[in-house]
Amino acid sequence: MNIHSSIDLKRLNLQKVYHFLYNARSSAKLDISQGTGLSIPTIASNIIELERRGLIREGHEFKSTGGRRAQSYSICETARIAIGAEILKEEVKVVAIDLYGNIVEDSRKEIPFVNSPSYFAEFGRFVNTFIDKMAFPKGSILGIGVALQGLVSEDGQTVVYSEILKAGGLRLKTFRKLFDFECRMFHDTGSAALAEIWSLPEKQNSVYIALNRYFGGELVLNGEVRRIQKLSSPTIEHMKISSDGPLCYCGKRGCAETFCGANRLSEQSGLAIREFFEKLHSGDDRCIEIWKEYVHNLAIVINNIHMVVNCDVILGGYLNLFMSEDDLRMLDASVKEESFNNGVTYSLKRSFLGDKAPAIGAALDFIDEFIYEQ
Ligand SMILES: [Zn+2]
Repeated sequence: MNIHSSIDLKRLNLQKVYHFLYNARSSAKLDISQGTGLSIPTIASNIIELERRGLIREGHEFKSTGGRRAQSYSICETARIAIGAEILKEEVKVVAIDLYGNIVEDSRKEIPFVNSPSYFAEFGRFVNTFIDKMAFPKGSILGIGVALQGLVSEDGQTVVYSEILKAGGLRLKTFRKLFDFECRMFHDTGSAALAEIWSLPEKQNSVYIALNRYFGGELVLNGEVRRIQKLSSPTIEHMKISSDGPLCYCGKRGCAETFCGANRLSEQSGLAIREFFEKLHSGDDRCIEIWKEYVHNLAIVINNIHMVVNCDVILGGYLNLFMSEDDLRMLDASVKEESFNNGVTYSLKRSFLGDKAPAIGAALDFIDEFIYEQ
């Protein structure tokens, strides 16, 4: 065995032990040995190395059948932290997450977006103050992911389309100058989808639909979080569902955006979203009519996606905060009614991360990479 393959093998063994512990959350040497196929002495030396790096710690002692107590080990979940920020037209949200994707700290501030140096200076001050307050050692911060309402080029360097923020042409280096950490940019619905599928137990095909003021969606194939940016379709919002529908901000008519953005409900009812749902749930005829049309159009979009790939649907975004279980059942029934195949099998689930999903997803990209590379 040459020196390189010996180093590779050591690294591989360390990865096996770390990944086993990460998935098991807590485990003793014998279980790690059985789970990884590595010998107890190999496990022991890797545990020493992982403890030395501050990545794992001793946990409680298990009672074992032989009368001896077995020491358990678990991951130090805050050994590394990743930061996610979401830039919206009106405000900035920021989260810090640990190695299991749990929120350690979060904050938000009203900073209306303007593509100008003064905006970025204020954005940088806000995020840096947030990080400083947490007082984590600098080396533990993996990086900062910025999610924004805009499409990002495949190399992650430039915002290539952003009608809502008017941030087209914005470069990643603008953010890099603000921080002492690595920085990446993401399309907000992409990072939200990544956050939602991160904790799904099974690898599966899903479509993440963001019911925000502006509509958005991401297709996730085989639950592959690392490949999401390349495999996903970031423009479900511009799927045409009517050739003579309302004018979309993209310049075309009849896009899903014009029917399924939350703006549609406000525009048609003349009400703020909260009031709209209050009236809807108290039986207001006009609101019921508007909601039925909205649900019908959303069902068409979901069925169009099902024509291409059979996938479960995760509903995220702002409207999720107001939709009742009955509203959800109505959408489910409408999808089944609109389907050309009455036997369509899919599940419709609510997002469980709510409006923090884009920021969490932007941070998870660093966590996912760190775990994979250990
Ligand atoms: Zn459009």
